[in-house]
Amino acid sequence: MSVSELEKVPANLSQAPKSRVLSGIMPTGDLHIGNYIGAIKNWVAMQYEHDSFFCIVNMHAITTPQDPKELYEKTREVAALYIACGVDPKVSTIFVQSHVPAHTELCWILNCIAPMGWLERMTQFKEKSKGDRERSSVGLFDYPVLQAADILLYGNVPPVPLYVPVGEDQKQHLELARDLAERFNRLFGDTLAIPEPYIPKYGARVMGLDDPTKKMSKSEKSRYHAIRLLDSPDDIRKKIARAVTDPGRDIKFDPERPGLYNLLTIYQAVTGQSEEEIEAHFEGKGYADLKRELAERLVEYLAPLQERYRDIRQDPSYLENVLAQGAERARETSAVVLNAVKKAVGLE
Ligand code: ATP
Ligand code: MG
Repeated sequence: MSVSELEKVPANLSQAPKSRVLSGIMPTGDLHIGNYIGAIKNWVAMQYEHDSFFCIVNMHAITTPQDPKELYEKTREVAALYIACGVDPKVSTIFVQSHVPAHTELCWILNCIAPMGWLERMTQFKEKSKGDRERSSVGLFDYPVLQAADILLYGNVPPVPLYVPVGEDQKQHLELARDLAERFNRLFGDTLAIPEPYIPKYGARVMGLDDPTKKMSKSEKSRYHAIRLLDSPDDIRKKIARAVTDPGRDIKFDPERPGLYNLLTIYQAVTGQSEEEIEAHFEGKGYADLKRELAERLVEYLAPLQERYRDIRQDPSYLENVLAQGAERARETSAVVLNAVKKAVGLE
């Protein structure tokens, strides 16, 4: 993480109560560098300044069909990857969404104040349903309301600042979460904190290597689409070598050349160098040089993370322990907002 990015992370002045951070990833498919650069890297940077909660959103995962055994296994894999990436279970709360029933309870209450029209406008539903509304699940349509519940539960009563570090693709859902919180507060009195999105300056939208007009996604199955966090050095080299590039020779940050721009953005995220430094470094060099260097940087960058991941997976009881403690802390914390919400609505 470069200094300029860190400076943007809101610092927590030592006053109590502490500001909060909440974010999560679905345990579907394999985590990739987009998830890392767009989200997890910022979690790691923010965790020491804020009371932080990172969940594995398995209830979101089942909005599209999942193999049950694989879902269970992926949930552990993602938890281990959080830790391997540097999320510190001693300072952050790592938990599985389905272990904390408050998430679905608040989701239901928010469902009852969420206008259908707001959800109709969500572009992720349009993409994920591939236009087939008839066969898409109600859960997929409701995905952003469950996400709003995930977030709003970790505000506080009275509200403390609540930051949500995500990639750019989640900006619209974050706006919906803010709108729902404001609507709730208007209808029932000030109860919910209004969350603040934290979207990084660089790498907020890493694009597919095989198609730089589409964002890199776990659910995209084509072999040369994404660099996965657990890819072998050989796979990394092959994928970068085959990455789609654009006409033109010089190595410049040019948004009109999306293939090159994407590779340079990844290079920037892993080296922490500025655009000027990178362009100067590649002056007089070509695509082959950029690809070769980028592949080696990525191999080096991911090696320690992969080693930590293997160590963590050696000890399943350690991971189960982290998740059990995380669930307990998340249940305790979220109960405060859920109780206030129920009271405000007249349920209790
Ligand atoms: P799926 O295809 O299953 O939706 P995904 O790769 O989009 O997978 P999510 O679990 O939906 O992953 O999102 C996890 C986090 O990673 C979110 O904060 C999201 O904004 C971020 N993220 C996902 N893809 C990218 C990307 N290509 N670039 C930057 N951030 C990303
Ligand atoms: Mg996604």
